[in-house]
Amino acid sequence: VPADRRPSLDPSAIDRAKAALERTLGSSKVLGDPNALAAYAGDESGCEPRVPDVVVLAATPDDVATTLAIAERERVFVTPRGAGSGKSGGCVPVHGGIVLVTLGMAAIKEIDRDELVAVVEPGVVLGRLHEAVEREGLFYGPDANSLDWCAIGGNVAENAGGPRAFKHGVTRDWVLGLELVTMGGERVAMGRRTKKGVTGYDVTGLVVGSEGTLGVVTEVTLRLAPKPERVATLLALFTDVRAAARAVSRILEARVVPRCVELLDGPTLAAVRARGVAIDAAAGAMLLLEVDGADVAVEREVERVGAACDEAGALEVLAAQDAAARDRLWTARRELSLATRAMARFKLSEDVVVPRRKMADLLDCVDRIAEGEPFRALTYGHAGDGNLHVNFLWDDPAARPRVDSALEGLFRAVVALRGTLTGEHGVGLTKAPYLGLEQSDALVALQRRLKRAFDPDGLLNPGKIFTGSGHRSC
Ligand SMILES: Cc1cc2nc3c(=O)[nH]c(=O)nc-3n(C[C@H](O)[C@H](O)[C@H](O)COP(=O)(O)OP(=O)(O)OC[C@H]3O[C@@H](n4cnc5c(N)ncnc54)[C@H](O)[C@@H]3O)c2cc1C
Repeated sequence: VPADRRPSLDPSAIDRAKAALERTLGSSKVLGDPNALAAYAGDESGCEPRVPDVVVLAATPDDVATTLAIAERERVFVTPRGAGSGKSGGCVPVHGGIVLVTLGMAAIKEIDRDELVAVVEPGVVLGRLHEAVEREGLFYGPDANSLDWCAIGGNVAENAGGPRAFKHGVTRDWVLGLELVTMGGERVAMGRRTKKGVTGYDVTGLVVGSEGTLGVVTEVTLRLAPKPERVATLLALFTDVRAAARAVSRILEARVVPRCVELLDGPTLAAVRARGVAIDAAAGAMLLLEVDGADVAVEREVERVGAACDEAGALEVLAAQDAAARDRLWTARRELSLATRAMARFKLSEDVVVPRRKMADLLDCVDRIAEGEPFRALTYGHAGDGNLHVNFLWDDPAARPRVDSALEGLFRAVVALRGTLTGEHGVGLTKAPYLGLEQSDALVALQRRLKRAFDPDGLLNPGKIFTGSGHRSC
């Protein structure tokens, strides 16, 4: 950024921006009180929070455009924010400035049953969208485990996935088009409403997963599908993760694509047992599987999945017979993130991905990394996609340097196994220092040039993805 266009950290620029925001948007949408600001300082990543200077609670796309125009004029940083459930520090305003919250823009504007399209605002909570489309006999695939509170804008920014991704894909697979407001306040509609369409560059696809660094999403057009007739859930216990991984291969060989294949390793099962859930003491791994589709097909697939697990040496296979039983099986899985956090003073949760057949190698590698160290490691995740949440837990702050070196060891191992650093949480702050382990200088430089095309002065969500902002996580 040329010197004359560098963002100002001058407090008077912030004061001018705040006064202009209050004048234009009205004081009810602009927060400046330190107690109110503190609620917008952090997310669920464990990154050190940073209290912003100003918070804007946007209610309309015009509010967003006004904020980005004022921020550009006064050279003040802006960090977009949805529900704050992110796990990579994406909405932490590391350099201060304005936090621009789109959670209040929460209308489901349209559900078109014939065309299988929904048009929604970015603040719609994912679970609410599910309920609304399912009431119409329709289906939206992505199902992040945070669905009770994360918002569509954040899902789009992170290209969020979820347990159903194996069969039904991630957010990008469901976004047809969107409206983006760029720095300076220009509203740009992109994409389409039709299933097919290849006009021009796929800018929509670029914005999905750009972590709030290219613009602020103010409307999203989503593809829908008919709701599957039936869903069945199975739980299978194994002595170890290698047997569980073998079962996943057998299931695919049997030509079944379950919508979910969730894996819990031995230490994770111990954590679940510690919460009072009775699980066979001989079990060192669990698969939680779900199939969906037409009635007859589901019945056949349940049989094939059960047989594949048995062939792989399952200790036990249970099938949930009704919705209540399915819910019970899933509650334990959904609570895992918070339950494991309660196990230690500090927790770092990664979401690496490796090719499916390398999963057992990665789990061995995690065991080796944690051996004799002042932290514990446990792993669970979306085994169908090879997307595993490796968690490091520790109590003594002095252990942090050992955790950092374990983390780097983990990322190096993932890249060596031809995997990728993050499957759904994004690079944000937490993985920015490691980007170079996976991506070439040329690719990083190309992405930086793309960033400059959207945000020439580097004002939008600074410190994320590319930089060593020097901001410390945890
Ligand atoms: C218990 C738990 C379980 C989780 N499970 C999953 C899971 O299964 N799968 C998964 O993918 N993630 C999961 N997450 C992570 C998180 O919920 C997702 O990343 C989610 O998409 C974040 O949405 P949010 O609204 O909370 O966004 P925030 O945390 O507020 O922001 C996330 C990013 O989006 C940007 N952003 C937000 N709104 C906008 C907007 N309108 N325009 C542009 N940029 C915007 C922010 O700048 C930031 O970079 C989980 C988190 C928790 C705490």
